[in-house]
Amino acid sequence: LNRRLAEFGTTIFAEMSALAVRTGSINLGQGFPDADGPEEVREAAVRALRDGRGNQYPPGPGVPELRHAVAAHQQRFYGHLGLSYDPDTEVLVTAGATEALAASLLALLEPGDEVIALEPYYDSYAAGIALAGGRRVPVTLRADPASSTYRLDLDELRDAVTDRTRLILLNTPHNPTGTVLTREELAEIARLARERDLLVITDEVYEHLVFEGEHIPLASFPGMRERTVTIGSAGKTFSFTGWKVGWVTAPPELVGAVRSAKQFLTYVSAGPFQYAVAEALALPDSYYTGLRDDLRAKRDVLARGLTAAGFGVFSPSGTYFITTDIRPLGHDDGFAFCRTLPERAGVVAIPNAVFYDHKDQGAPYVRFAFCKQESVLRDAANRLQKL
Ligand code: PMP
Ligand code: GLN
Repeated sequence: LNRRLAEFGTTIFAEMSALAVRTGSINLGQGFPDADGPEEVREAAVRALRDGRGNQYPPGPGVPELRHAVAAHQQRFYGHLGLSYDPDTEVLVTAGATEALAASLLALLEPGDEVIALEPYYDSYAAGIALAGGRRVPVTLRADPASSTYRLDLDELRDAVTDRTRLILLNTPHNPTGTVLTREELAEIARLARERDLLVITDEVYEHLVFEGEHIPLASFPGMRERTVTIGSAGKTFSFTGWKVGWVTAPPELVGAVRSAKQFLTYVSAGPFQYAVAEALALPDSYYTGLRDDLRAKRDVLARGLTAAGFGVFSPSGTYFITTDIRPLGHDDGFAFCRTLPERAGVVAIPNAVFYDHKDQGAPYVRFAFCKQESVLRDAANRLQKL
């Protein structure tokens, strides 16, 4: 393994899911739903396969049906903010958001360029930046136990920008903290990007999983569309994490750059699922609100259970995840806590420290996923109460 990748080893998600299987534990670690997405969307995939649509190499930027559906989705949900994209020149289909992230970083960074990322950050960000020869500069979201939320210190963000900063890698709604950046915060980030002439890659895969507040795409702020690469994923929006269908929306020059990288990573993304996701994106608004309401109820079940079990619970405004503080339980090392949790309680969780460069900042926090059946969440909560 080369020096760029040596520090990364196996992802925590694979490691913890394997631990869950080995110990027969309830897996609240890796974020994937335990119920598949809509039946009619699965049927659409079967139809595409059977009818021979996408069984041979589809077009590099994605099949036209999906590109048009992505553009229509952006128009439907964000058109009122003045945001829309041309399906032929401003949309790129990728193998999940993970490839979108890697291809964007590979396409846009020169070796030595600095990338500002909110810490804790999703694990593939660090690896993606390293593969591209960039340098990550984390800006730490601060835990505020009084409000049970995490907050971004805009002065810290501003101070992190140097002459070497090429781009900001943003994530809202934010994994693992569940933070949804506010209009004011986003406006400040936009101002900074304009002032310092930075690009922004914004990972908005949880755009429809917002329980309080609203999701506002960064690209909708003045002067941002031309410098922003926005990333979405069918994994989160339609509960098909195994399909690995994601997309990028950006102006033609940026999409073209990302496409240059993508063509040598995967060439194209798998065909039949693209037709199915195109149909999924056209589902009525009630699908999207239903998904959100269902996950909000699940969040509440798990939050109550974790509170009753004695955890400090940060209240997520979005995503699949609840971050907890384990200090009220008499622990301060999330790694050690998660390593022994399967045998002590039959539950698997993720130590937030893996998402930090400043490991000490993340040490006492542990993440639980709530994208599971309510009965599973209740079972897990009961087990944790015996800790
Ligand atoms: N970004 C974030 C913030 C995520 O949580 C995930 C994983 N679910 C991804 C990107 C990767 O998404 P995909 O499965 O579409 O590659
Ligand atoms: N995004 C999911 C999580 O944070 C996992 C995705 C993965 O395993 N790469 O749990």
